[in-house]
Amino acid sequence: MELFDVAVIGAGPAGSMAAKYAAKAGASTALLEEHAGAGWPVQCAGLLGQEAMAESELSVGPHILHAMRGATVLSPGGQRLDFKAKASRAWVVDRRLFDQAMLAQAAARGADIHLCANVRQIRRERERSILMLAGGCEIESKVVISAEGVSALLARRAGISPPQMILSGAQVQVPFAADDPEKVEVHLGVAPGLFGWVIPLDGGSARIGLCARDLGCERLRSFLKTDIIKKRLRGSPVALNVGGLPLGPAAVTAVEGLLAVGDAAGQVKPTSGGGIYPGLVAAKIAGGVAAAAAQEDDCSALRLMEYDRLWKAALGRELEIGMRVNRMLGRMSDAELDELVGYLARKPRLIKAIEEHGDIDRPSRLMVRMLGHLDWDAIRLARLLGYALG
Ligand SMILES: Cc1cc2nc3c(=O)[nH]c(=O)nc-3n(C[C@H](O)[C@H](O)[C@H](O)COP(=O)(O)OP(=O)(O)OC[C@H]3O[C@@H](n4cnc5c(N)ncnc54)[C@H](O)[C@@H]3O)c2cc1C
Repeated sequence: MELFDVAVIGAGPAGSMAAKYAAKAGASTALLEEHAGAGWPVQCAGLLGQEAMAESELSVGPHILHAMRGATVLSPGGQRLDFKAKASRAWVVDRRLFDQAMLAQAAARGADIHLCANVRQIRRERERSILMLAGGCEIESKVVISAEGVSALLARRAGISPPQMILSGAQVQVPFAADDPEKVEVHLGVAPGLFGWVIPLDGGSARIGLCARDLGCERLRSFLKTDIIKKRLRGSPVALNVGGLPLGPAAVTAVEGLLAVGDAAGQVKPTSGGGIYPGLVAAKIAGGVAAAAAQEDDCSALRLMEYDRLWKAALGRELEIGMRVNRMLGRMSDAELDELVGYLARKPRLIKAIEEHGDIDRPSRLMVRMLGHLDWDAIRLARLLGYALG
């Protein structure tokens, strides 16, 4: 049986990055993916902010489809907040090509890639993990990094706690006449738990989707029938993506012999549903800690908790603030959402601040700036922001 220092389960963005960093730190690393390649099935809108793009360490390539400069936030009653920055702030990517490029990076760093390798069980024996694959093969490693995605069956069995909630996501790609191809639309009130979105693509189509506490597909069907969407549809959907989105990170992300990263650890921004940026940040830390622990031959829970501490120091507060914003928006009535969006739309200085400092990867930075742009009649908004920022 082959013995590796580190075995990573799952070749999504978090798994490929963790494998790359473990290999880079000198650990013999196996990356196991159940499919015949990375990036399938797609369960993502593919919108990445500038920090996520930088964290991916990928150069410009065919995975980048389109640059975005702004957004329109729409309230249930039709209030609109529009902003558009001078430069690109986010990019729409082809997730299949993105994941393949991430996997190629891990391979180039020396990770041993095992495709069609479905890990069914993990047995911990004499300070080693035995990974049992479908088909009967076994692989042995000192540490396992679970980057299995939202289902994370093996991580849960090993004692990694679940996320606070799992939203139901659904999205179609459809011919569509977008108002502005450089602006994302955010539709509040159509999906309790998060929001609905329209992400224009080049060539007259768009990704239209939502994540909600339940019934993602049913709610998407209703969303597509709303006047504001229906009148701009130019044909039938050509692709459907469905998937779960974890919100609220796992309380414990390291146990003896195993770490969890990405969706498996609930590392998703609760304000936007973006999981790639936090997953990549945490994966780099996981790869480094796993490699060091394996080389020291100490893969105890106590040793691996260094990862839990480090990623929480890097992202914990941002995700905590995000959960507060998510809960705050979730508790607001349609009328309150109308009031909030209408209020923000009437504040040109605030819109300028969003255009200059808007950051989908670290929204709390913008929220702090927003506090400085409020006037005396904004007491309620200030209270809301104060609650969100703790
Ligand atoms: C509808 C929707 C829209 C989204 N839009 C965005 C967006 O625009 N921007 C953004 O940043 N995030 C978005 N997300 C979230 C994003 O898709 C995830 O956070 C991200 O894919 C998580 O990456 P990961 O590497 O942790 O897991 P995944 O990408 O899910 O990868 C997990 C991998 O593990 C493999 N695997 C699982 N179990 C096993 C096993 N037992 N053995 C071997 N292999 C296994 C799977 O095949 C898969 O390849 C969206 C999510 C949804 C549902």
